Amino acid sequence: MSTSPDDGAAYAGRVSALIEDLELQLLRAIAAELRAGSDATWEQTALAGLQRWRQAAARGVAGAEQGLLQVILEVMLAARDDGVTSAAADLNEAGISRGRPRPAGATVRQAEQLAAQVMATLQQTPRLLTSVYQQAVTAGAGEVLGGKVTRLQAAQHVLDRLLVRGITGFRDSSGRNWALTSYVEMAVRTATGHAAIDGHTQTLEAAGMDLVVVSDSPRECPGCRPWEGKVLSLSGRVGTTLVPSATGLQAVRVEVAGSLSRARSAGLFHPNCTHRLTGLIPGVSRPRPVADPAGYAAKQRQRDLERHVREWKRREAVALDDGAAARARAKTREWQRALREHVDANGLKRLRRREQIGVAT
Ligand SMILES: [Zn+2]
Repeated sequence: MSTSPDDGAAYAGRVSALIEDLELQLLRAIAAELRAGSDATWEQTALAGLQRWRQAAARGVAGAEQGLLQVILEVMLAARDDGVTSAAADLNEAGISRGRPRPAGATVRQAEQLAAQVMATLQQTPRLLTSVYQQAVTAGAGEVLGGKVTRLQAAQHVLDRLLVRGITGFRDSSGRNWALTSYVEMAVRTATGHAAIDGHTQTLEAAGMDLVVVSDSPRECPGCRPWEGKVLSLSGRVGTTLVPSATGLQAVRVEVAGSLSRARSAGLFHPNCTHRLTGLIPGVSRPRPVADPAGYAAKQRQRDLERHVREWKRREAVALDDGAAARARAKTREWQRALREHVDANGLKRLRRREQIGVAT
């Protein structure tokens, strides 16, 4: 069986669901403050609520910490287990008995590092949202004088924009700007994907299986192309080698293109990589498994439609008046219809959990 950084996507979804819930909780609290107050005193009331909101936001972030630490540890260990299971299947197919299991200590330490990284990111959220809060209160002051929009409509516009883009302004170590959920999603996806590959290769290594194969990928990822379909070694040996066939007939000549660790440090299995790794079964492995680009694109489109459904549900949750709530509900139904049609047309499975908001807590 194979492992890939792409396998981290399902695990990352569990963590980003928690983050999305927290994001929604903080935005709902802003909307609740903005809905209060009469027209004449709206701005003063809303700004007076800011301090109260900041305290609630800090409590919300602190309250999410324990749950996040737990889920991050769970997904990292589960990903590693998937790798171990994949390796066991490879060994079984090759007729090699499994070695002694390696301890998972390194994965636990990586989980702790990942959790610290996620928490450090989350702690910036109240500060970033404070400026959104202030913008929502002061937005449209000029247009409102002209009578074109109400203060509440102008504030709604600021909140809606935030729901489309997500909370932005998070910087990674290379200075790149991220939205909160995409950043956490990427970090967890990458870490769990690597935990799966590590569990896989460590288990193969412990049993004495040295050679692995890199698959073709349904998605273009030019950096990995030099390794597509290639055999790599865990030990570092390179060149032509004769290995006994798993079918027991004769030795098989194998060309080892390089070592896995060098390929990884040169970019193989980068974040979002969809290439897969399998133990080489001499005489059995087909180095180029058939890719399914159409199926892959259909699933990506489903994820995209699910995101739209969630976005409009969130917009309903932070609607400042009944009209905005009704419009958001209508849009939600529209995207749900598009999703239903897409799922039916492509024979996909609809996953209700991914269309819901506020389910992770
Ligand atoms: Zn790749």
